[in-house]
Amino acid sequence: MPGKSNRLLPLDASSPSGGCRKPLFGLDAESLAAYMAEIGEPVWRGVQVSEALYRQWVNDISEITTLPKSLRLRLVAEGWQIARPAIAKAFQSSDGTERYLVECGPADPLAVETVWMPDGDGGEAGDENETGESHDLRCPGSRFWDPGNHDPQPTGRSRKQDWRRATICVSSQVGCAVNCQFCLTAKLGLQRNLNAGEIAGQVVAVLERHAVRVDRDRVNLVFMGMGEPFLNYDNFMAAVRLLVREVGLSPLRMTVSTSGIVPGIERFAQEPLDLRPKLAISLNAPNDHIRAEVMPINRKWPIGEVIDAVRRVPLRPRERITFEYVLLAGVTDRPEHAREVARLVRRTGLPAKVNLIAWNPGPGIVYKTPESGSVEAFQHTLAGAGIPAYVRQPRGRDIFAACGQLKRTVEG
Ligand code: SF4
Repeated sequence: MPGKSNRLLPLDASSPSGGCRKPLFGLDAESLAAYMAEIGEPVWRGVQVSEALYRQWVNDISEITTLPKSLRLRLVAEGWQIARPAIAKAFQSSDGTERYLVECGPADPLAVETVWMPDGDGGEAGDENETGESHDLRCPGSRFWDPGNHDPQPTGRSRKQDWRRATICVSSQVGCAVNCQFCLTAKLGLQRNLNAGEIAGQVVAVLERHAVRVDRDRVNLVFMGMGEPFLNYDNFMAAVRLLVREVGLSPLRMTVSTSGIVPGIERFAQEPLDLRPKLAISLNAPNDHIRAEVMPINRKWPIGEVIDAVRRVPLRPRERITFEYVLLAGVTDRPEHAREVARLVRRTGLPAKVNLIAWNPGPGIVYKTPESGSVEAFQHTLAGAGIPAYVRQPRGRDIFAACGQLKRTVEG
């Protein structure tokens, strides 16, 4: 149900938060207030806890100094913990991108991956909230790929702000079941869903590391990390509600990408506009035949059905649907493919833009990165057909942080 509270979500035994059975992080102000009332405390104590968790980013109940000491001790005695996900390792790219292994708790052996991209990757170009920005739309092409040269960086707070805006790429699952053939995450299979606190916690951990001022700094969120958000829909949207209502981020600075899970898109269409992120469809092929090869999910929900569902999403004034398109050399990057994509996007009748991504290499995947010339030609064909097209820069490719490369490549 749109707009519902996050009550009990993190307490679900099937989705533990790092082995902590009573995590405060993940509960919204309404749930916290209800709990306070339940134990005979004023309901506004719940708002104080919410402020401490999501605005002050405390790590320990003892740091919630707005609560009387007796109440803090009581919460601890009753087994509550903050249990916010924490950055266990950070890998720094030569381009400033950072990839993190985020642990959801000491008892959880699985880490999830989150990426920080100072100044974004060009995928924000053409978005209403980014107008006025200039973007380098050139594709830098492949660079030598040597993750061994990049040692983990300290995981503490980084105080130097040398970015004007930034994008955080957030994971919604550990691994993924969708099995896109070009994606390294797919190799993991689905390990488990993340709960709302674990999804929102990645964001808060990264905001804290970079000393982001939510009311001042321009930080975009893209739910394009590990996993298919619409196959973990309830937790994903519960996380969005936490990030909007409790942390104070705007849904206009959030984009969720789906491989085309039609029932998820239909639910998304029902979400209130003040909570709904923008929508991106991971298209990646010019027609059903090729798409079914690179994205087997297309056999269940072909392009036409996905587009029909997208048409039911009410858009804000000037909002566009983004089509993400991974270019695979010789498979999806030919001139005839560009013309076919142009026709396909125009036929949708949707206000749309296309983000082009030169495929990022990964071990055990047979595809090849396209030449920068074919990426540029593809972009020009789309632009010539009146379709805004942008090239997403391969940020953090040297640390396995680029699009499609997220996998736990370095053991924690
Ligand atoms: S591209 Fe996205 S949906 Fe496809 S396998 Fe990778 S993580 Fe899953």
